Amino acid sequence: MKLVFATNNTFKFQEILAITGGKINLINLSDLGFTGDIPEDYHSLEENATQKAFFIYNKYGFNCFSDDTGLEIEALNNEPGVFSARYAGAPGNFEENIFKVMKKLKGIMNRKARFRTVIALVERGNLTLFDGEISGMITKERRGNNGFGYDPIFQPDGYDITFAEMEPAEKNRISHRKAAMQKLVKYLNENGNYNINA
Ligand code: IMP
Repeated sequence: MKLVFATNNTFKFQEILAITGGKINLINLSDLGFTGDIPEDYHSLEENATQKAFFIYNKYGFNCFSDDTGLEIEALNNEPGVFSARYAGAPGNFEENIFKVMKKLKGIMNRKARFRTVIALVERGNLTLFDGEISGMITKERRGNNGFGYDPIFQPDGYDITFAEMEPAEKNRISHRKAAMQKLVKYLNENGNYNINA
């Protein structure tokens, strides 16, 4: 049986292929021939991940999972959260998003933050949620050139470097997304029926 990962992000798709060791029969949106936008109309990671997974499940009839991630900053009431990609307006403008966070945190001592990923899995219309997180702090200045998004200003607990100063392999070993994906893969290995050799 096939399982769809409702993403166009090839990096994320490669990441999950690596975790599954290629043993699970996974396809992505381009394999389905889907090129449009998937609606994300809600105000929580859980609801948006669920909406995206059901959208593809209802359209194609394949079991499906979808992910949604946000940076939650304690002193900003967990902003930008579900709006992380478009915090400063235009979707995916990482520099502007970082600038907005730095401005809002100016003079604020509490720099605690976490990244949180939620994965929604829809199988035969039934929903299961998985989550992963990593705690850390927002630095006073941007550091490093690796990664994407808020990586230059996020320093995970137990480290004195930001995600953007870390080797990508190290970040991917400890990341929020990796933690959520590992829970999903454990569940699929125990309960799923997607073995590529079956
Ligand atoms: P998505 O749900 O994975 O598309 O993530 C939404 C937004 O959260 C991205 O556009 C980034 O701004 C931010 N984000 C997600 N994951 C990371 C990460 O690992 N590092 C830095 N920013 C991230």
